[in-house]
Amino acid sequence: MSKRILLIIVIVIFCSFNVFSNGIIEKDSLKPKTISFKIKLKSTDKIKVEVSPLKYNKHFAYSFTLDDGYRSAYLTAFPLLNGGKISKSSINEWKIDQGGDGTTSEGLFYSDGMGNKIPFKLALAINGGSIRDLPENRGHLSWAEVKEMYNAGWDILNHGFHHATKHGTNYLIEVTGNTTSIKQNLNFKMSHFVVPGGEGDEKYYLEYEKDALNNGHFSVASYYGVGPVFKVDSKVDLDKMISARTFVQSSKDTITFKTTDRYLKTLDSIVKQPNTVWFNEFTHGTGNTNLWNLSMRFPDFKYYMTTLANKYGAKGNDSIWMAPWQEVYEYIWLRDRLKIDFQQKNKEVTVTIQLPVIPETFRNYDISLNIETVSKFEIESNQNLKIKSDGKTTHKQISIQL
Ligand SMILES: [Zn+2]
Repeated sequence: MSKRILLIIVIVIFCSFNVFSNGIIEKDSLKPKTISFKIKLKSTDKIKVEVSPLKYNKHFAYSFTLDDGYRSAYLTAFPLLNGGKISKSSINEWKIDQGGDGTTSEGLFYSDGMGNKIPFKLALAINGGSIRDLPENRGHLSWAEVKEMYNAGWDILNHGFHHATKHGTNYLIEVTGNTTSIKQNLNFKMSHFVVPGGEGDEKYYLEYEKDALNNGHFSVASYYGVGPVFKVDSKVDLDKMISARTFVQSSKDTITFKTTDRYLKTLDSIVKQPNTVWFNEFTHGTGNTNLWNLSMRFPDFKYYMTTLANKYGAKGNDSIWMAPWQEVYEYIWLRDRLKIDFQQKNKEVTVTIQLPVIPETFRNYDISLNIETVSKFEIESNQNLKIKSDGKTTHKQISIQL
């Protein structure tokens, strides 16, 4: 083969990849670059079509992450939110109770505004080095448990391979070693990092932030940064985002819901604002014992989540999008990068959406459109689009899954 042909081949291969600002080399997405469909109106009144600030045009998104991969996530939080049997009292290898109240939960839900209930989902920030199958009363999750929650739509975030913070830690190996571990065991690539907390050199978290952002992570939750409340009415600066981590924790003493009520009150004051917001919080364990005094006792956790569901979920005003960090991040990322155009001709509206190249670590490809019209409508699409609307009822939204 001549050198010239070889050079051309090299150039062609190179050009079929896009290098993203965070250093990940992404293969060109196989998803279409442009999608279009028609809205058939019942009247000729003027319509307005725009992308919704949040999925299903919700008033606020609430992301909640459980740090460290404790088993209580699977024994109590997951069945409470997703529906299922909550573990009764269960003493683990550290002699603490990581179980719950032994009841059966029907799940906690918000709705898509089109008649479908969607379960509350959380994120888990995990350390691959702690995930194991034995002993029976282990304090950490197993791979099978993490997989089950991931498959149910829970996000898995990188929390370092060993949760190492002390002097001498190799931060880079902690970051990339965990990426490799999760890729090997669960076959997906994590894309958001949560700095492990603990005793360490002064400002050690800056090392973690740098190594995570330079090695395939879009965002890092750390000690200091933006948030935890984000106004999302307009474009959000997501690039190499470093956010501040805040915790919801039970009080040290006996169970009263006073402490939890304070968190609920704060949240209520945030979501009462007219702005569309994204609120992000964390805790550790969710079992009966307040693990390391950094956790929510199960009764507090149940009270907290159930109150959220009753007030802002499908049983309440249905204003919450209870979705984990990566899911909300990806929605806003896509929302801010697509271009939408619509042309109305009497009762027919042609909507065209130009899409960006979507990074391959993305799990979600959702677009919600906010529709302003007095008329009921139907959707007509000749592309193979997963598209839903409330056109026959409240005629306010269209939801597209790429
Ligand atoms: Zn941690």
